[in-house]
Amino acid sequence: MQLPLLEREASCTACELHEGVQTVCVPSIHYEDSRPPGSSPIVCVVGQNPGHEEDRDGVPLIGVSGQYTRKVFLGSMIDDRPSIRSLSTIFLMNTVRCWTPQGQDPGIKHYTRCAKRHLYPELEAIGAAYPDNLKIILCLGRFAGQRVWTFLSGEKRRASVAEYTRFNGSTLRGFSFVTTYHPAAFLRERSYFDPIVNHMRIVQDILLGTAPRVTKPNTVKPRRPVAH
Ligand code: SF4
Repeated sequence: MQLPLLEREASCTACELHEGVQTVCVPSIHYEDSRPPGSSPIVCVVGQNPGHEEDRDGVPLIGVSGQYTRKVFLGSMIDDRPSIRSLSTIFLMNTVRCWTPQGQDPGIKHYTRCAKRHLYPELEAIGAAYPDNLKIILCLGRFAGQRVWTFLSGEKRRASVAEYTRFNGSTLRGFSFVTTYHPAAFLRERSYFDPIVNHMRIVQDILLGTAPRVTKPNTVKPRRPVAH
């Protein structure tokens, strides 16, 4: 469900990626299988950029990687505890909002420009609209982690996913930061599964109130760190 809060700018021409796509600025949405907005803690899941299916249907995280994120990583019970999906209100969003031709990776300028124009204002709007709801930003992959970390800390850092996981659980600007590997990495290499599940445990711990809330980087690491 698209919320007024998360309205898309269908006429955006801020970079050349709007040329030739079916959906300019794929919108952020409320994940309808999670809890209704305003009723529970909020988790903002930030992906990379739309793939072919997302561009065709104008919906984020519905391709193969997105389905894994929705159903497996957000929807599964971990350690016999309720799923993240059943514990929280989930917003699904992308760092870059337009598909890239032939599915190539967006460039740094696309990440920077699109995040400033769409992602950052949305996160600020969510923080303002739901000030009492614990808010977690779950970043999928290095590029989402980079942009969100810059938004939260003001620090321009180019780091790997493994390095960003050092900051998992940190709370800045009223958001808890968690980053994990992009599900596409798991689809290529199954050894990413355990680290991703460990990062989902951190999200669960925050939602269940069983993790200490910290205001500076902590030392939470994946159980089996993998070079990226
Ligand atoms: S990628 Fe982002 S900034 Fe570029 S045209 Fe699309 S919505 Fe606008």
